[in-house]
Amino acid sequence: MQQVKHKMPEQAAEERRRNFNEVALGYEAETARAEAARCLQCKTAPCRQGCPVEVDIPKFIKHVKDGDFDAAIDEIKTKNNLPAVCGRVCPQEDQCEKFCIMGKKGEPVGIGRLERFAADCAMAKEREESAALPAEVLGKVAVIGAGPAGLTTAGDLARLGYKVTVFEALHAPGGVLMYGIPEFRLPKAIVQREIAALRKLGVDIQVNAVIGKSYTIDELLNEEGFDAVFIGTGAGLPHFMDIPGENLNGVYSANEFLTRVNLMKAYKFPQTGTPVRVGNRVAVIGAGNVAMDSARTALRLGAEKVYIVYRRSEDEMPARHEELEHAKEEGVEFRLLTAPVRVLGDDKGWVKGIECIKMELGEPDESGRRKPVPVEGSNYVLEVETVVMAIGQGPNPLVQDTTPGLAVNKRGNIVADEAGATSKAGVFAGGDIVTGAATVILAMGAGKKAAAKIHEYVQNKKAAR
Ligand SMILES: Cc1cc2nc3c(=O)[nH]c(=O)nc-3n(C[C@H](O)[C@H](O)[C@H](O)COP(=O)(O)OP(=O)(O)OC[C@H]3O[C@@H](n4cnc5c(N)ncnc54)[C@H](O)[C@@H]3O)c2cc1C
Ligand code: SF4
Repeated sequence: MQQVKHKMPEQAAEERRRNFNEVALGYEAETARAEAARCLQCKTAPCRQGCPVEVDIPKFIKHVKDGDFDAAIDEIKTKNNLPAVCGRVCPQEDQCEKFCIMGKKGEPVGIGRLERFAADCAMAKEREESAALPAEVLGKVAVIGAGPAGLTTAGDLARLGYKVTVFEALHAPGGVLMYGIPEFRLPKAIVQREIAALRKLGVDIQVNAVIGKSYTIDELLNEEGFDAVFIGTGAGLPHFMDIPGENLNGVYSANEFLTRVNLMKAYKFPQTGTPVRVGNRVAVIGAGNVAMDSARTALRLGAEKVYIVYRRSEDEMPARHEELEHAKEEGVEFRLLTAPVRVLGDDKGWVKGIECIKMELGEPDESGRRKPVPVEGSNYVLEVETVVMAIGQGPNPLVQDTTPGLAVNKRGNIVADEAGATSKAGVFAGGDIVTGAATVILAMGAGKKAAAKIHEYVQNKKAAR
């Protein structure tokens, strides 16, 4: 038996670094079946404990192995509304694949790749799902935010028989899947296809609807006739470093940079009205997935040199290994153990460089990672025309500030229990707004739990009337 995963076909690095087309090309049917044949069909299915949405992994893999790709996607879709998305961006190495028996001696089964294959197959065949919806309407639920958490809650509730309205602040649903993760990792047409399938379940998605402005949560509950509300507003508020020069032209938060490129299609400028001028040299500060996405996007916008500036070493980088490797292959240069101390500008207020200081690793800090300590007198200037701050995001406070009785923690995240119940009756929350910036599948897992809890809450409320 082959001990390593079947290779994922990819666009060559020198080609893809200048285009926005998808990097990973997906398995052909023959490769998918061969990869599926590596699965031992373990009775205890340890892989399943690593799946927050509880997909029956061995069962769907067996269908792929047998060549019954329709059955494979039907099986996945009983638990996961966004399989083509998850198959692409889920950190499988830390989820299902981490527990796969095959990983003990060699590489785990490529569960994510097989999930993507099954989902793409169904899309290629333009296969319609035939979800039989209950005839009776069980209640009316509002979902705030059309990211993975909100969309999952909406899909599960619609399947149970609820009339669901999703309110989304932006002009397109999808959350980070649309505005954050770039086209070359997650084609937007794929996200929209999976959202279209949710609409077919009867989910009404209202875009350009900012809750806290258009309606408050109390208005939704008391005046608009919703039985319950789910908040899945994510972590879209960028953090800055508070160093001098951050207000210069040419300094972006990763959030703004990626939104302009992805959602506003800056890469098609001048056909679209949102330019992003990156110049020849770009520094991206941070080393998570958001930083890798920003760096690789800057390359594709035409920058000659793109630096990742990170104050710790490669071992501490939070980015997925695959993203890091892809960035390296495409020519992103890593300035590790380096921290920016100020952004330098020219006399017209545009960025011309960043002053950096070298760091060394000291004792472990409260996160358990060795703390970076500045090396006295090691300052130097990196000449760049654009700086992208990718050092994390926090919760947007609008909904919390306009909802009396909704408990938040000191970081501004909504406090909710395991099942998504908040301190306010009828209000549930999940995803990044509760946990802080995390992952697509964790947000989806939270959405699933909340949908089940909302169902219980609404039915109990109705029974008590
Ligand atoms: C650039 C980037 C790359 C990432 N890469 C990965 C990856 O490879 N793999 C992975 O698993 N995770 C990745 N993540 C993290 C992942 O995308 C998030 O954890 C996930 O999207 C969280 O889902 P969510 O539904 O909680 O929030 P979001 O996806 O943030 O969705 C929240 C939605 O709520 C809307 N909203 C906010 N306030 C309001 C309001 N007041 N009224 C109405 N709507 C509102 C927002 O516009 C948004 O559409 C990445 C994140 C970023 C930023
Ligand atoms: S643990 Fe791995 S080998 Fe076992 S059933 Fe799951 S995917 Fe298959």
